[in-house]
Amino acid sequence: MNTRRIAIFGATGSIGVNTLDVIEQLGGRDAFEITALTGNANVDALARKAIDHGAKMAVTADETRYAALKEALSGSPVMPAAGESGLSEAAQMNNDMVMAAIVGTAGLKPTLEAARAGADIALANKECLVSAGPLFMDAIAAGGGKMIPVDSEHSAVFQVFEENQRRALERVIITASGGPFRTKSLEEMRHVDAATARAHPNWSMGLKISIDSASMFNKALEMIEAMHLFTLRPDQVEVIVHPQSIIHSMVGYADGSVLAQLGTPDMRTAIGYALAYPGRPALSVERLDFAKLSRLDFEAPDETRFPALRLARVAMDRGRLQGAVLNGAKEVALEAFIAGRCGFLEMADITEKVMDDLSHLPAANGIDDIFAADREARRQAAALVTG
Ligand code: NAD
Ligand code: MG
Repeated sequence: MNTRRIAIFGATGSIGVNTLDVIEQLGGRDAFEITALTGNANVDALARKAIDHGAKMAVTADETRYAALKEALSGSPVMPAAGESGLSEAAQMNNDMVMAAIVGTAGLKPTLEAARAGADIALANKECLVSAGPLFMDAIAAGGGKMIPVDSEHSAVFQVFEENQRRALERVIITASGGPFRTKSLEEMRHVDAATARAHPNWSMGLKISIDSASMFNKALEMIEAMHLFTLRPDQVEVIVHPQSIIHSMVGYADGSVLAQLGTPDMRTAIGYALAYPGRPALSVERLDFAKLSRLDFEAPDETRFPALRLARVAMDRGRLQGAVLNGAKEVALEAFIAGRCGFLEMADITEKVMDDLSHLPAANGIDDIFAADREARRQAAALVTG
């Protein structure tokens, strides 16, 4: 078997660590040659992983940590690199595939470069499509690689949707666990803190995405992500609350059929699918036991208690730079919430205000327009944080 050259952007995070685990399960160095691992602040963990997995290069996005990374790699054959130029180098290493698992807008540039260079993109970083959907889809087309979703919902849709059935595709139904506050009232949610919000009932994930799940901003981002990824009209994207997170999402067809992908909530299934595509890998993840499961529940999503879902609709309908604005404003509000400087419900208030104020922005011509909109959204959101 030919080894595939892979770079992992965000190798020290939750998705990155799971990706390294899946690579081992798929045959390790017999199946994959790791060109580069990237991280940010935690250079010791990054260096350890790069050495253990035989990566050619390790990149810290934080230039000030270059010396520390170099020190941690001394005596090993792994090349240290840092900053934007280091990430850019990692994107240009003739990769067959790049796992895009940097959190937030920081993932945009290197992922776009890797796509343009022709790598297949295993996409965990949903912000890429939320902020710059058309640019990314164009970059993939120009580079000639494939975009394979890693977000579990989108992986589910990808697994049951075939392009030759597109004419019969009616709708994509994204499932949402509802998060830790699914049954909480607005009044109760007003007073929750970050420690409570980060405790997801089913999935174990990074900090930001866990809190985004509690506010359902994560689902909002996923609606926009799905629209771009599968070229859907906004009204073809539906959300259904499914507390058990067993059905990871569904596709509805013109004959009334609905196809679903089911599994235990373990990101390694989606990661493995992306890494082995178009094959299906053998993975040691927990199997579903339907007798134990006994039932699957569904509820309509509540846009009053979870206004993020309504804001996603607004962003999809308005189009242009509204996705970038939603995401930028939301990230600032989220950071303020984590720091205890804004309330849980204020995150949506701030985001909506900024989206309205910047609704006049035209469509992006290039990545610089995305960053300009993102910066302006962040500036306005920061000014609205009162705490
Ligand atoms: P995480 O916080 O656990 O890890 C983030 C990674 O990005 C780390 O390697 C970190 O070093 C790196 N990073 C952080 N700031 C950076 C910066 N400024 N520049 C470059 N690198 C930086 O996050 P995660 O949960 O692994 O999520 C990664 C992405 O995958 C996010 O976009 C998230 O929405 C998406 N995602 C995650 C899950 C999940 O289960 N964790 C599921 C679906 C989608
Ligand atoms: Mg998801």
